[in-house]
Amino acid sequence: MEIVILAVVIAVVAVAAISGLVVSSRKKKPLPPAPPSSPSVTTPPAEPQVGEEADTAPEESRRTIEEVDLPAAEAPAPAEAPVVEEPPAPAVEVPEPTAGRLVRLRSRLSRSQNSLGKGLLTLLSREHLDEDTWEEIEETLLVADVGVAPTQELVDRLRERVKVLGTRTPQELRGLLREELLTLVGTDLDRTVHTESGVSESGAEKPGVVMVVGVNGTGKTTTTGKLARVLVADGKSVVLGAADTFRAAAADQLQTWGERVGARTVRGPEGGDPASIAFDAVKEGIAESADVVLIDTAGRLHTKTGLMDELGKVKRVVEKHGSVDEVLLVLDATTGQNGLVQARVFAEVVDITGIALTKLDGTAKGGIVVAVQRELGVPVKLVGLGEGADDLAPFEPEAFVDALIGE
Ligand code: GDP
Repeated sequence: MEIVILAVVIAVVAVAAISGLVVSSRKKKPLPPAPPSSPSVTTPPAEPQVGEEADTAPEESRRTIEEVDLPAAEAPAPAEAPVVEEPPAPAVEVPEPTAGRLVRLRSRLSRSQNSLGKGLLTLLSREHLDEDTWEEIEETLLVADVGVAPTQELVDRLRERVKVLGTRTPQELRGLLREELLTLVGTDLDRTVHTESGVSESGAEKPGVVMVVGVNGTGKTTTTGKLARVLVADGKSVVLGAADTFRAAAADQLQTWGERVGARTVRGPEGGDPASIAFDAVKEGIAESADVVLIDTAGRLHTKTGLMDELGKVKRVVEKHGSVDEVLLVLDATTGQNGLVQARVFAEVVDITGIALTKLDGTAKGGIVVAVQRELGVPVKLVGLGEGADDLAPFEPEAFVDALIGE
């Protein structure tokens, strides 16, 4: 009996406990209203004015987007650490030494390569070298601007050697063509750009003087700037003379090139006397004990006498300081026969000692190297293979021919 009563009591207590739990859990479900003492809830937000909420929200989101989008470098500096903006000192570049530059840039000759070297190899590899094939070989050379006489010589030599050879393996043909093209381009010409310092008229040590001549538009000023880099790369100090006073932007352009490699540019007023600028440039070169003075000149071809007067005068006036070591003619390789006509005119006006052939990257007419050397009896010393600052390379016949026949 007692046990029964105890069981009933336990059962009653248990039911009461369970029902209590359920009630309390039910009570927890709806969120209780915040107690009046809590300010964050009881303080009502200020009554919004009409339109205020609409204005504020986009403003805030805009700011967030802008802040997120801001690149780190442009983020405003914190107020406590103001950044003092100093104008950056122009960094003086020291270009890579120039040895082997043409080898590195030979892919730029690919257009010449396709039509000249590879074209010739394909033709020479034909099973039957009949008259038609030889004519095609001749045509390939002429189209690449090799010139009539050198083309004839090369075809004669190839005919003779192929006959002796009998059977032709691709390697033999390649070797033979390489040799003959090298003979045509010339391996024993002095291709150094002469910049040896001599002694000035007054007995002082004098910088080497290089005059750069050519028709405006050929890349003359650019080549002068690139040549300054070539010389600096090879350890020389340079002063530039902006004696192309004909083209308005030429002096600025040259100065920019000079500043990049720490070379001073001597310039005069626009339309000023080129000879006096050239004279002053050499004077500055002597004062600075520079190794080389490069003088950019104007190239107007409207009258030969005008050109002759101007270039002749520049040279004579510069020679008051001592000899001019190099007169480089800049020719645009893409102008073909027209370039050769220009070359002839300049050669009559001033003694050219070397050729800088520009824009060889933009032409299939690499044969112009051969033609212009023949025309002037002067070696190609530099070739331009692009618009980049270091796309001017000392001319190396082996690298050039290897690029043509696709090594
Ligand atoms: P100039 O002083 O009047 O003869 O001419 P610039 O030096 O101003 O050059 C004329 C243009 O030819 C410029 O756009 C040069 O970048 C470009 N140029 C010069 N040399 C080369 C070269 O070797 N290859 C290519 N593709 N462009 C060149």
